[in-house]
Formats: sequence, structure tokens, C-alpha cells
Amino acid sequence: MLPAALLTLAVLAAPAAGKAKPATNTKDPVCKMTVDAKSATVAVRGREYRVCSKYCGEALQKDPDKYLDKDGSVKAEKK
Ligand SMILES: [Zn+2]
Repeated sequence: MLPAALLTLAVLAAPAAGKAKPATNTKDPVCKMTVDAKSATVAVRGREYRVCSKYCGEALQKDPDKYLDKDGSVKAEKK
């Protein structure tokens, strides 16, 4: 099996918008502020993220690779 074929399948199997996984992050991926269940959320690549404001949400959606790792985890939460 070719790794490239697996990668293509993974991309095709990515969930469509509207079926995003619920947010679990405790820090805003953009500004690193603490966020909680009452914070606003934005959907990025099939997963929701809590953000402090719509401005951070827009920044996250515009450039997700800057704030998120490939597996979808929030860089700001790592040490
Ligand atoms: Zn923020």
C-alpha cells in the first residue's frame, strides 16, 4: 500500500462542515487567553475551537496551520 493513497483517503474522509467535533481546548489558539465552555467557537477543518472573540476566530480560520498542529491540537496548549 502506498502512503500517498492513504493520505488521499484521509483527506476525502474529512468530515464536512456542520459535523464538527465539539471544542475541548482551554486556551484560545490565537491569543492564548483562557477560554471555557461559554466562549465562542469556530469550526476549523471539521473540529470546533473555543476562541475569546470573533477576531481570533477569523484569524484561526484564515491561517489554521499557524495555530494548530496537523492532528488538530492547539499549539498554544503545548509546552
Ligand atoms: Zn483570542
